[in-house]
Amino acid sequence: MLYKVLDKSAYQDFIKSLIADHQFIGPKKKDKATHDFVPIKDISELDTDYKRTTLPPAKKLLFPPNEELVSYELGDEIVVEPVIEASEKILFGINAWDINGMNFMDKIFTTDFVDANYVAKRKKLTVIGIDSEPTETNFSLSMGADYATEGFDLYITELKDKYFVRVATAKGDGLLTKHTTAMEATNEDFSEYSKYKDDYREKFSKDVRIKNFYDDFEAIYDNEQFWSKVTKDCYSCGSCNLSCPTCFCFNVKDDMQLNLTTGKKTREWDSCMIPEYGLVAGEHNFRPNKENRLKQRYRCKLKTFKEKLGNYSCVGCGRCIEVCMAKINIADDIDSVKKEVSI
Ligand code: SF4
Ligand code: SF4
Repeated sequence: MLYKVLDKSAYQDFIKSLIADHQFIGPKKKDKATHDFVPIKDISELDTDYKRTTLPPAKKLLFPPNEELVSYELGDEIVVEPVIEASEKILFGINAWDINGMNFMDKIFTTDFVDANYVAKRKKLTVIGIDSEPTETNFSLSMGADYATEGFDLYITELKDKYFVRVATAKGDGLLTKHTTAMEATNEDFSEYSKYKDDYREKFSKDVRIKNFYDDFEAIYDNEQFWSKVTKDCYSCGSCNLSCPTCFCFNVKDDMQLNLTTGKKTREWDSCMIPEYGLVAGEHNFRPNKENRLKQRYRCKLKTFKEKLGNYSCVGCGRCIEVCMAKINIADDIDSVKKEVSI
């Protein structure tokens, strides 16, 4: 990692130059409450001062909601052609917990099975992170996801009269060299940055008691009364999954043309919270009720992948809390599990 500083007067020209030379994706205000990561053609469209987390999460750039995977033609031989669409892009303005969400997705799509579509897009994505204000629902500090140590090319932090830039890759360093003039960080810069980080951590107001969650969770897993209370208002709408930066379940659809010889396979985001998720042939449903689905979601988020990959499948961004019409709150539920077990 290299550490550099960028003068505030040079910042705007740096961004303008990146926009002029690259396919540039950044946060743009969508409505009163949300931002979205979209192609930016002019710096005036960019709004990095976002308080609410961006919806949908930036995972859509690597794992689109709907994506063609292969096309095929049936004949004397079956011809299957992979469809891999990826182009060089800069993703600018993503914050630490979402970078950590992407790092989790990297593990998912390269462990056990390497997903060529995901990997091609990830390799061509240059990531420039920034800090953004955590909302009151954000508990990423408790999840250890408030700070990104990898998964980006550049990470820019605004200090009083300069920007502190962490340079993680040669690609990131090349962008700085080509588009601006950055200086090596001095000891004073490091001190100011360290003080900034201490102050920044203070901004996370939501704390959860995640330590040893999985033991408590297993102890309460079969407590029907508890789960029925937690899920009583759930509509099984799946919004929590669709807004989550780490949910990766998908369904693969076969679309054959009427000629019955050509067709394509596409994948689309799926949701473990909807009743159809566990439905199989013969009308059997492995998870027929919402209690079963929610506790399985929590197990996946807070236990399974912590054991398998060393990371929670939750970065504590708080999006699922904000989008849930039934006010189901994963952060409060983590604490409720602990409280219930301690009784
Ligand atoms: S927890 Fe909330 S967002 Fe998720 S399925 Fe239930 S009602 Fe929908
Ligand atoms: S489960 Fe909720 S809080 Fe955790 S990463 Fe997903 S959307 Fe964010």
